[in-house]
Amino acid sequence: MNCQKAFDRYLSLDKYEHVPLAVTVHLLFCPVCRTSVRRLTLAEKVLAAPLAPAQADVLPQSADPVVQAALARISSSGIAWVAPEPVDRHVSMFRWLVSGFILAGGFSVLPFTSVGEWSRAAFGPSFIVPFSILCGVAVTGWCGVFVGSNIDFFVKKFGFAHT
Ligand SMILES: [Zn+2]
Repeated sequence: MNCQKAFDRYLSLDKYEHVPLAVTVHLLFCPVCRTSVRRLTLAEKVLAAPLAPAQADVLPQSADPVVQAALARISSSGIAWVAPEPVDRHVSMFRWLVSGFILAGGFSVLPFTSVGEWSRAAFGPSFIVPFSILCGVAVTGWCGVFVGSNIDFFVKKFGFAHT
């Protein structure tokens, strides 16, 4: 995928829409597009700030009499800005970290519980080896899912500044 195609595809996305894998891969390897995306995200944030629902009851001011008349009509008509429910289908970072700690903590604690001690005494290496492998696979799997499902977050928030 070349830069033009990747960036066009990125621009065609709706807000909060998942970035397709091909575009994400391009962004990971292309500092020029990454920088553009980071700038776009910043610009969008700056431009959207005056439209935030918290300030929606304060109509913007304008020196243009035509715009002033339009704004006056909007406010007198009672057409109100309906603050949409925040679209948040993503699992929060806090929950991710809690689940990670629970997973790693559970695997670390289990061998020292009565179940773990009994299993070790009864099965010896036939318990310890598969348990260690399961522990490694689970933690690796968790890391993979964590990075995979939050790649949007990392690309958009941190933008991997172009040096
Ligand atoms: Zn590019």
